[in-house]
Amino acid sequence: MKFTYPLPTHKTGGFYPPTGKCGYCGNSNEGNFVVISQSAMEKIPGTNSYAPADVITSFSLLDHGVTKTGQGITIFENTNDAFFCSTECLRNFLNAIVDDFEAGK
Ligand SMILES: [Zn+2]
Repeated sequence: MKFTYPLPTHKTGGFYPPTGKCGYCGNSNEGNFVVISQSAMEKIPGTNSYAPADVITSFSLLDHGVTKTGQGITIFENTNDAFFCSTECLRNFLNAIVDDFEAGK
């Protein structure tokens, strides 16, 4: 599977893929899925509680002298959750991301 980074995210929902289907194979999740979930929380002033922060998040792979190209990739920008229909698709997705990272794509 060929990806373009950062990966497209649903404009208002903050999830990947924007279709709501599996982020690797594209099949319907049919209500069963695994999720890569990112969150940013901030402390509520004057309390010991935290709430979702109003910030833009990014999820990246960075290189400091390990890959041939040295190029990092930003996988997600402002994405909270990435959905996959199975652990097999999650694993294939992560392997594909690392392959792209190694290749400097
Ligand atoms: Zn899948």
